[in-house]
Amino acid sequence: MSTNFIEPSNTPLSLLLRAKGTDLLSERGVSCPGEMPAASDTDLVARATAAKAKLGKRVFILGHHYQRDEVIQFADVTGDSFKLAQKAADSPDSEFIIFCGVHFMAESADILTSDNQKVLLPDLQAGCSMADMASESQVDAAWAEFEKLGIAKDIIPITYMNSTAAIKAFTGRNGGTICTSSNAERAMVWAFDQKSKVFFLPDQHLGRNTAVLELGLSLEDCVVWDQTKPLGGQTPQSLKAAKVILWKGHCSVHGRFTAQNVIDVRKELPGVNVLVHPECKHEVVSQADFVGSTEKIIETLQNAPAGSKWAIGTELNLVRRLAQQFPDKHITYLDKTICYCSTMNRIDLPHLVWILEAIADNRIHNVISVDKKIASEAKVALDRMLALPATTAPLD
Ligand code: SF4
Repeated sequence: MSTNFIEPSNTPLSLLLRAKGTDLLSERGVSCPGEMPAASDTDLVARATAAKAKLGKRVFILGHHYQRDEVIQFADVTGDSFKLAQKAADSPDSEFIIFCGVHFMAESADILTSDNQKVLLPDLQAGCSMADMASESQVDAAWAEFEKLGIAKDIIPITYMNSTAAIKAFTGRNGGTICTSSNAERAMVWAFDQKSKVFFLPDQHLGRNTAVLELGLSLEDCVVWDQTKPLGGQTPQSLKAAKVILWKGHCSVHGRFTAQNVIDVRKELPGVNVLVHPECKHEVVSQADFVGSTEKIIETLQNAPAGSKWAIGTELNLVRRLAQQFPDKHITYLDKTICYCSTMNRIDLPHLVWILEAIADNRIHNVISVDKKIASEAKVALDRMLALPATTAPLD
């Protein structure tokens, strides 16, 4: 039997080998130039520490909650995507923002930071499968169909933070707003105050959960626009009748949780509180005890009484870290199988060392720079989000 390893060829769905290859069909980028330290190098922690100390305030490292511990230990601040973009904007003294997250997050940081700051993504292949599910041409094509049907004038687009800058720009151009998982309800109420329909992108689950569980709309008020089918798989009548048109996108991590997971964990751990992220499917969220954004999940566990039991439906790196931080509470993972965000996990210690040492050596890699026109239109949508009213009232 041959022992030669044959490298798999790249397909639109494949994850590329570490620091190698090109995936032009996704928002992910190209290979990392230069020498990547070996993951087995036992000096990686010392190397990252030394490079970071040498660079001092010139670099500011942002660590998303779903990052590995080996990366998080070097973060100057941790948070969800929006908090990190704001922290980047609040750090004008740092020449380089190293975003340990995924591509769309670095784009948002670039849009919100000044022109003399550079945002770097340690691995350009760290994309987001959900953001990849809505391309600019697909979204433009959907809007053109809405215009032909005469319903575009009745629609406000709402785009989740987890989207490319181009889709945020589409939203800005068409009178819409960005939302996060914390303020999706406010964004929807704001939209319905102005028009009769919402076009929610790219996460169908967050859109449906917000419309049904927060605003009291029915499941029938929501239709799914399938970008692979003519007229999104809908009829002119169904699109005209719908209150919310949901883009057919989802998070590959949160979409894995099932209603059966909730049933199983309740049997195994009587008295458990099930706490899930709103990117989970409607059948999961509607059976959970609590629903909240990543920041809300952390806050809930911080404030939970000692001895309480929790099953958490979000990314595993965060859940494991929370279980270590709060040993007085019983914190378990909602799914039985391991569920990391595979693209987020591409940012590892070798990539962080590689990018830090390169800066120290005046070689600047992996700069995320959003086209000026796209950035300015996306900023319009981001600014609308920042201006959303603080309180909301349910729809009639
Ligand atoms: S957890 Fe889901 S939404 Fe977040 S970066 Fe990963 S794939 Fe994208």
